[in-house]
Amino acid sequence: MIPSNPMIDSFGRRISYVRLSVTDRCDLRCRYCMAEHMTFLPRKDVLSLEEMVELTDILIARGVKRIRLTGGEPLVRKGIDQLVRELGKRIGRGLDELTLTTNATQLAGHAAMLFGCGIRRINVSLDSRDPDRFRHITRRGDLAQVLAGIEAAADAGFKIKINMVALKGINEDEIAPMLRWCASQGHDLTLIETMPLGEVEEDRTKHYLPLSDVRARLEEEFRLMPSLARTGGPARYFEVEQLGIRLGFITPLTHNFCDGCNRIRIAATGTVFGCLGHEQKVELRDLLRNGSPEAIDDALNQLLAGKPKGHQFRIAAARPAVERHMSVTGG
Ligand code: SAM
Repeated sequence: MIPSNPMIDSFGRRISYVRLSVTDRCDLRCRYCMAEHMTFLPRKDVLSLEEMVELTDILIARGVKRIRLTGGEPLVRKGIDQLVRELGKRIGRGLDELTLTTNATQLAGHAAMLFGCGIRRINVSLDSRDPDRFRHITRRGDLAQVLAGIEAAADAGFKIKINMVALKGINEDEIAPMLRWCASQGHDLTLIETMPLGEVEEDRTKHYLPLSDVRARLEEEFRLMPSLARTGGPARYFEVEQLGIRLGFITPLTHNFCDGCNRIRIAATGTVFGCLGHEQKVELRDLLRNGSPEAIDDALNQLLAGKPKGHQFRIAAARPAVERHMSVTGG
């Protein structure tokens, strides 16, 4: 189905991918992501599940084909089952794919439901497989609970991709072992550079690890064959010949991935961001509550007209590139 009113920005990029943050809340407090004492949004500021579905329908009508649910932690949102069930009905009816990014703490209890609603691919964030280190990074996480969630998802039939933020001096020695573990489990792995998003107590510069270095190190041990595979996201992929799995690199700092950007990001408040690394945004919550579909279309057009060409993150800058945390924009 060709939309009559597709979303195309001023650089000719067509928007077909949306990351929808269903809550800014999370049950973990990863040090590079959040402050220890985060203030979360009051409930009245957050879109209701019905408003999220209404917005999704508007976006699908304008050519969005893929939606990734994220947060915060999407599985801590009350009523997430209801939302996934509703959005799942759109798969094959305008929507090609519904996916989810999760920390897996609640995945064991949700895996069957998510699969039943038509989700087939899940990204799980896992920065360490050492229980103490995992607790340190997340400030509270229980690794066993997360591993049980991953296992339940694999049993349910999901294709799982593990996302690991590469942290100098914290988990860099676990990257090759994580790759081998992923291969043994049949999961793909994507490595991510830390991005300067929102104030946290830690100095991110201290733990910033350029993935160009990581790749060079891995290439001493593994043959990495560039792959043309794309999954709708910003990762660049390699096939790891010896292991038979795919390794992705998300390198917003060492290599900017903005040219082919096909996405917008929706915060749980209905604020829509054109770029992870810019403040440019439009507010849709009040329009969803009191406006008209035309007013929402106009606001989306305004967002597209001003969508930045790309971001220029600098890890050593005195201040974060943007004030909002990844958990607010939707990681
Ligand atoms: N709670 C879910 C999860 O853990 O996957 C979804 C939201 S989380 C914000 C999404 C991803 O963003 C996680 O993989 C997390 O590690 C990553 N992330 C958060 N803040 C980041 C930062 N400043 N730089 C790089 N990655 C970050």
